[in-house]
This record gives sequence, structure tokens and C-alpha cells, in this order.
Amino acid sequence: MEHETTTSHFIKTIIDKDIETNKHDGRVGTRFPPEPNGFLHLGHAKSICLNFGMAREFKGTCNLRFDDTNPAKEDQKYIDAITKDVSWLGFDWGDTIHYASDYFDRLYGLAVDLIKAGKAFVCDLSAEEMREYRGTLTEPGKNSPHRDRTVEENLDLFEGMKAGEFEEGSRSLRAKIDMTSPNVNLRDPIIYRIKKMSHPRTGNAWSIYPMYDFTHCISDALEEITHSLCTLEFQDHRPLYDWILDQLDVPCHPQQIEFARMNLNYTIMSKRKLQKLVENNLVRGWDDPRLPTIAGIRRRGYTPEAIRNFCATIGISKKESRIDMGLLENVLREDLNERANRVMGVINPLKVVIENWPGDTVEELDAVNHPQKPEMGKRTVTFSKEIYIEQEDFMEDPPKKFFRLGPGREVRLRYAYFITCKEVVKDEAGNISHLVCTYDPATRGGDAPDGRKVKGTLHWVSEEGSIPASVNLYDRLFSSEDPEAGDGEFTDNLNPDSLKVMENARVEKSLATAAPETVYQFERMGYFCKDAKDSTPELPVFNRTVTLRDAWAKMKKKGR
Ligand code: ATP
Ligand code: MG
Repeated sequence: MEHETTTSHFIKTIIDKDIETNKHDGRVGTRFPPEPNGFLHLGHAKSICLNFGMAREFKGTCNLRFDDTNPAKEDQKYIDAITKDVSWLGFDWGDTIHYASDYFDRLYGLAVDLIKAGKAFVCDLSAEEMREYRGTLTEPGKNSPHRDRTVEENLDLFEGMKAGEFEEGSRSLRAKIDMTSPNVNLRDPIIYRIKKMSHPRTGNAWSIYPMYDFTHCISDALEEITHSLCTLEFQDHRPLYDWILDQLDVPCHPQQIEFARMNLNYTIMSKRKLQKLVENNLVRGWDDPRLPTIAGIRRRGYTPEAIRNFCATIGISKKESRIDMGLLENVLREDLNERANRVMGVINPLKVVIENWPGDTVEELDAVNHPQKPEMGKRTVTFSKEIYIEQEDFMEDPPKKFFRLGPGREVRLRYAYFITCKEVVKDEAGNISHLVCTYDPATRGGDAPDGRKVKGTLHWVSEEGSIPASVNLYDRLFSSEDPEAGDGEFTDNLNPDSLKVMENARVEKSLATAAPETVYQFERMGYFCKDAKDSTPELPVFNRTVTLRDAWAKMKKKGR
């Protein structure tokens, strides 16, 4: 697969230099290390593009590794979803998926090594006591009363922990570093805890599990990762990782380099918070098209190319920032503009009866699939006596600047004919039930031989040439730019109008065979794709991927 080349950034510069100085024998090994406790989001895509991108660029390797150290929060369904997402984004991790749990035996052995070196001890403090002993950011901590246990006693107790002899929370294994360190991560952190819980991959083999920090850096080392790329919040963990690796006999000491997380406005990017939305049914699952999850935006119609382009556009830096959702949407539009077939769909239909149309006659008219790309081909659209236009394209009492249909006005129907509105028919309640129009047979294809001009061109479908559809119109999930800011719950900022369902839409017949997730441009209305889950053979459901900015203005300028 072809990939965008990345623009330069500070990490690339560092790796370039490392290769020049033959550090790690000039080899580059990276990894993407998710915890399988939720679905991936756009922030992860940034990390994926960076890690796999650097490996590709420097002809190295990039592992996909699950840091699965917390069986309480992890699940096979997340492993499956993450694997699918990384692959869909266009990246290849080679033959094996790695799991930190594959190293549980080795991690245990290395913990024993630490104990033997006098660098780890079994501590009996409760979680609450441990908090009291830890100190604060401004005050040093105090040594645990169990810190000076002998190596033999520690080995014995640690083995007892492993054998399941002690209650959860009653003991832990801690690194012996420095309780007075200004960096709290170095204040004798826990490296193993008792957890009598089954693990998705190791089953009931273990009743102790290594902590994330201990596992993560050692897993990187065992996989001989050269450049351990992670987000800024791990900066304060780096001294701990370096300390652990310095004590132990491991094949490699990766260099950790931190970069800023991706933040997008009008959304949230934390798995924990996304999970809250899912669990409280505030959205319809992890793949709800309004979520910034990879599964959600895939269902929404985003392409992997657009996401990779977006990641390349925002770049990599050390500075935290919020990216405007508009930038993401623009990158998406640029991509879809190139690849999406044009079709017609009427989202909120208004019926039009063509008075002078000859009876049951059905006519096939040529329509191009892409105005700038003849190679994308043509199709036919069906015209008949009853057609539908968009309700918003008609006004009974239009202002001067309204160039669409109104009583007595003439407009062009795209690819078809000029029509003139003769009559507005209403029901008893006074609502417009349909329009009666005439068409000019001489304007077939959309041009008047007498040179007569019309100001508006409308999309339409005919009764004969269309199928019913339901259309989901999405708006931003949150109504505030930074939903996490302020005192309240982030869920207080949910946009109540983030989904509008248009149940009576009609789309041209060619869409009956549309493949899910393939995006079409509904002319003048935006980009849409068939929903992979909710569509039925009777009623396809279309998701609006993104609106078409300025499309109407452009068409108007060209006079059609
Ligand atoms: P979250 O805060 O959403 O729970 P996480 O960092 O706990 O995310 P992990 O599964 O541990 O999620 O992340 C895997 C990798 O993705 C890590 O290396 C992490 O640094 C990176 N990552 C996570 N969120 C972002 C983000 N917003 N931007 C860039 N990289 C990210
Ligand atoms: Mg994490």
C-alpha cells in the first residue's frame, strides 16, 4: 500500500542522528503498545502512524504489542477491535502479535533478580498506609517498615504471593529506590500486586500480576525496541524505566522519546471517558459514528488515507495543543472529493408531479459519476412523472436571493430538464402536500437550446428511480470546544442534537447495491455511506460522513 511520507519532526531528526552514529547498530525498532481496555481513538492513530511510519521510513520494524497487565479491565473483544483497527489503518505488524503476558514468566524471573540484588522487597502496607508513607509533591516520603527484609525473606514471601497464599491487597512487591526522590514515581513503586483474577490469555495461571510500569519498559527491552515513542505523560516515568533497565540483564535499553498527545476540539479522547459514554448508553456503542474511535469514524465513512493524511498534517511535537475539528473535516473532504462517486439522494423529500409528462413513460438519462474524472464512468438516472426534490429547495414566498424553486419559477433538474412550478397543493391542515410543475422537453440533459438561463440547479430522484432510505445527520457530539474543561461532568456538555434521523429519505436506485462504508457524494448534500450495521434489505441506512462546504455556492457560480 502506498503511504504518505511524513514531514520532518524532532523524533525523525533524533533517529536520523542515531543511525548516523550507528547507535543500536543502525537498527530501528518501534512498537505500538495499547492496553486492551477499550477501543482505539484518533489519538492512538497518531501514535500508530508515528511508530509504523518511523519503522517504514528507516526500514526497521514495528511491533503491535498488547500491554495486558490488568485483567480487571481487559477483554478479548478489545484485542480483536484494536487489531482490526490497526490493520484497517493500513499498517502491518508482521507475523506475530506480541503480548506483555507472553513475558509473565520472564518478568517474574527478573523480579526475582531484583530481589536477589537487594533492589526489591515485599511490603505489607495496605494501600491506604502506602499513600500516607508516599509523601506529596512537596514533602518526601517515608521508608516502609518492611523495606529492610532480608533477601531470603523477600524471596520466600514473593513465592508465597505467586502461590496464592495471601489475600489481595495484603502484600506487594516494591522496587527499592528512594522515598525522598522529588519524582514520586521513584518512591519505591509497586512492581507486583496480588490479583486473584483470570486473565484473557493466561487464564488462572497467575495470582500476581506485574504493574504496567515494570512490564512496559521490560517488554520494550525484551523486544529490542530501539526507540520507545510515547506521549508526554510518561516523561516522569522515564527515570523509573531507566532505573529498572539499569538493574537488570536485558538485551537492549530502548531510548524513550515523548511527544504531545493529539487533542481535538468538540470531542474527548480518553478511553475511560469514552467507556463512560458507552456504558451509560449516551452513545450507541464503541463504534457509534459520532465518537472519535477508529471503529466509529470507519462506520461514519472516514477513509484510512484521510486519517493518515490528517496525522501527517498535524505533525509531531512536544507542545500540547488542541486541533480544530474543521481541519480533520477538511482533510477528509479533500480525500473524499477525489474518490467518491456522485449520486443523488433527497433527504427531506417534497413530491413534484410533472403535469405535462407523458403518462407512465420512464426515461433513462445519463449522469456522470465524477464531474472531473471521466474515468470514473457514468450511470443512468430514471426520470418519471412523479419526482422528489428537497423541501428546502422550495419556498412559497421566496426572497429575492433565493435561486431555487418557487411559484412561477423555473429551475434545472440536474442531468434532466428545466421545470416550472405551476401550483402548490396543500392538505386540509394547510401543509404543502406536493407541487405541480411542467417540464420543457427541449431542455433534456439540462440545457436550453434557446440559450435561456436559470439560476438554480436542483438534485432530485424520481418515484420510479429511487428507493426509500433512512439518513443519519450527525453533528458534533459535544457542544463545547473543550468538553472536559470546567467544574461539571464532561457529559453535561453533550450536544442534544448530535444525531438527527431523516426516516423518509429517498436515494437513487443505483445505491441499492452500495457497499457499507463506501462513501458517495450526495450532490449538494454532503458525503454519505451506507451503515454497516443498521441497514436492512428493505431500508438502507446512510450516515452523513461530512457536509459539503461551499458546494452549493460553487455550483451556483457556474450556473448549474
Ligand atoms: P487513554 O488516555 O485514551 O486511555 P492510553 O494512553 O491509556 O489512552 P494506551 O492503550 O495505553 O492508551 O495507548 C497506547 C499508545 O497510544 C500509547 O503509547 C499512548 O502514548 C498512545 N496514545 C494514547 N492516546 C494518545 C493521543 N491522544 N495522542 C497520541 N498518542 C496517544
Ligand atoms: Mg495507557
